[in-house]
Amino acid sequence: TELWQPERANARGWDLAAPEHLAEIEAARAPFRTTRFEGGPLLAGEAAPEPAHKVLSPSDPADLVGHARFASTADVETAFAAAQPWAVAVEERARVLNAVADAYEAEFGRIFALLAREAGKTPDDSVAEIREAVDFLRYYAAQKVDAPPLGRVVCISPWNFPLAIFTGQIAAALMAGNAVLAKPAPQTTLIAALAVNLMHEVGVPRSALQLLPGAGEVGAALTSDARVDGVAFTGSHPTAKRIQAALAEHAAPGTPLIAETGGLNAMIVDSTALPEQAVKDVVESAFQSAGQRCSACRCLYVQTDIYESFLEMLKGAMDAFRVGDPWFLDADSGPLIDAAAHEQIAGYVEGKRAEGKLLHQIAAPEGGHFLAPSLIAVDGIGEIEREVFGPVLHVARYRAADLEKVIGAINATGYGLTFGLHTRIDDRVEFVTERVHAGNVYVNRNQIGAIVGSQPFGGEGLSGTGPKAGGPHYLPRFCQPVEPALPA
Ligand code: GLU
Repeated sequence: TELWQPERANARGWDLAAPEHLAEIEAARAPFRTTRFEGGPLLAGEAAPEPAHKVLSPSDPADLVGHARFASTADVETAFAAAQPWAVAVEERARVLNAVADAYEAEFGRIFALLAREAGKTPDDSVAEIREAVDFLRYYAAQKVDAPPLGRVVCISPWNFPLAIFTGQIAAALMAGNAVLAKPAPQTTLIAALAVNLMHEVGVPRSALQLLPGAGEVGAALTSDARVDGVAFTGSHPTAKRIQAALAEHAAPGTPLIAETGGLNAMIVDSTALPEQAVKDVVESAFQSAGQRCSACRCLYVQTDIYESFLEMLKGAMDAFRVGDPWFLDADSGPLIDAAAHEQIAGYVEGKRAEGKLLHQIAAPEGGHFLAPSLIAVDGIGEIEREVFGPVLHVARYRAADLEKVIGAINATGYGLTFGLHTRIDDRVEFVTERVHAGNVYVNRNQIGAIVGSQPFGGEGLSGTGPKAGGPHYLPRFCQPVEPALPA
């Protein structure tokens, strides 16, 4: 049976290969190359005066992106007291969310600049990020699900998709008529503030959408409040568990939690795969966005028969991969998000080097939190202790007769977010995809960059719970559990 999908179109976006689109981007973002941005709590009441801190670009510590302020526990109280569900007709909410999408597109230069400077996003990443945010807004707006809201929904979003995931959670919760209390990751406060300011400007009431930037304490204060009626969370698995425990203790029984957490995503390349295509897709899946995607490929299995030649090609492709200042078009990926991430992941790679497992590494520039893509040898996915959230790809070889064992090992990690397969044998596609447990399965392509509406995104097992983002079941989860009236 076909899933019901709302009628709408995805955004046009920008084609970086088209000179006129490039010129458009260049002209729009240039004025914001040195702008100092400001961002902090945006409440329906008065925010407590908190000191601002400097935001420095992850790719250049000399680039002062602006100043950010975090919310205090007093702000959490103010926000809960002022929160009001968005009690207007569903058509009006749809109109305003579509206006937010238009505002994002109109302000794309400012957003492009800030995504590069605060979040280290390359032009390629930013095109996808803005499109996805716009698509989420228009997709949920088009659903026009008319059911009573949950009430007060807390949205907690990560820094790796500081506009897209941030906007997607909020758009669905708002479209369902809830009062949203949004806590973005502390690393990307300025982008979140820019987005919420635009939402308020085009007509989302402040009482229906309040911004409370900050670190884990703010999230903990929000999710351990008895007034919470629902939570949307994207981030780490341990944090998701803490939220669940807080809800169990403080909120009403059965308070919904949608959690999209990490993954230990694998790709299998068999001996019939088209090597040029597979290499390109592996590099993108593992190293684009500096590997800072939940969907990124962490463990590559290559069939023994082609292992040596495939690895030579992969190393060659890695050598051609450019890590650099994400402002510029020739960067294939930018930096890691901050010094802590750099220290942790660089330490992991050095540990593997000491064990003699580092197969290949390319150079990264000095200055920012850049880390070179690395290739690490493993016997199998079970050897990887944890999700390494950076440009680190583990590679294992497997014999054709062991394919089922490989799938078993992948499933045994307990995670199930994305999975990739390269093969030219149809039966094998069926065999593997029937057995592997993953939310998003990709065949003969890369395994990142799910598209709203066509590829609803979300995992199973340790990778998350709840309906997939950008699919038809997501928005109804933000409504009271009555059968929502979907259009025919
Ligand atoms: N939706 C993104 C993708 O398909 C990943 C989101 C995430 O990293 O949380 O690549």
